[in-house]
Amino acid sequence: MLILVTNDDGIDAPGIRALAHAVRERGDVVVVAPDGNRSASGHAITLTERISVAAHHVEPGIRGFAVGGTPVDAVKLALEKLLPGPPDLVLSGVNHGSNLGRDVFYSGTVSAAMEAAFMGTPAVAVSLAERGGAHMAEAATFVAWWLDHAYRPLPPGVFYNLNLPPLGAAVPPALRITRLGERHYLNEFQRQAPSAGRDWYMMAGLADDASEAPDTDVVAVAAGFVSVTPLSIDLTARDAQAALAPVDNLLVPADVFRMERRPRDTLSRTE
Ligand code: MN
Repeated sequence: MLILVTNDDGIDAPGIRALAHAVRERGDVVVVAPDGNRSASGHAITLTERISVAAHHVEPGIRGFAVGGTPVDAVKLALEKLLPGPPDLVLSGVNHGSNLGRDVFYSGTVSAAMEAAFMGTPAVAVSLAERGGAHMAEAATFVAWWLDHAYRPLPPGVFYNLNLPPLGAAVPPALRITRLGERHYLNEFQRQAPSAGRDWYMMAGLADDASEAPDTDVVAVAAGFVSVTPLSIDLTARDAQAALAPVDNLLVPADVFRMERRPRDTLSRTE
């Protein structure tokens, strides 16, 4: 079993160290991760610069590569160049902080798992709703337990987003299978003191979870559960597709494209 472990907090973050350590007995564990904190880099890739790769010590028995790029760069490089073969599983995390609702579109942790799903590899993003690293060992041990007891293979193009509540409570949390909430933020930008002839703003929003539905990841974690959300890389809105049926195959008049003849006369349609 070949396991790739990655993250967006950087290869030296406590969360990825704990995760690699917790799954090391399961097979060959290789850590390929950004060389520094690349949180909130989303699905970004590096196109206009070279990407550095350096062997990096994780712990004895675990190979590591620090990548001078984004989390998705790291996954792509791992799968295409650095791993000895295709991995059986990609684990991304444990992220320092939750990735709930619309966070998944900004999160490098989730995007790294999504990139693995693009490439047909089973993938799990894991986040802990704590800022510090105090309970990372417990979070990582949970992942190892979850792989043994609650992991089920998902269809192609579907991957896991796991979020753990703050740990340290007297009662261990149960699992909840959830859907994505909204998680919108209030007062996202804080204005800073002007300097150098410019205005400055800092992203510093507080999540407004008041109107979340009870079956969402946001509510589950707030109530102390471990949220398990299967995410699909297919964002197509099936219901809207049906609503748009009346304009399916609508012919565009030739003058829209400044054509002299009707498109039907000059172009062969593929359908
Ligand atoms: Mn992060």
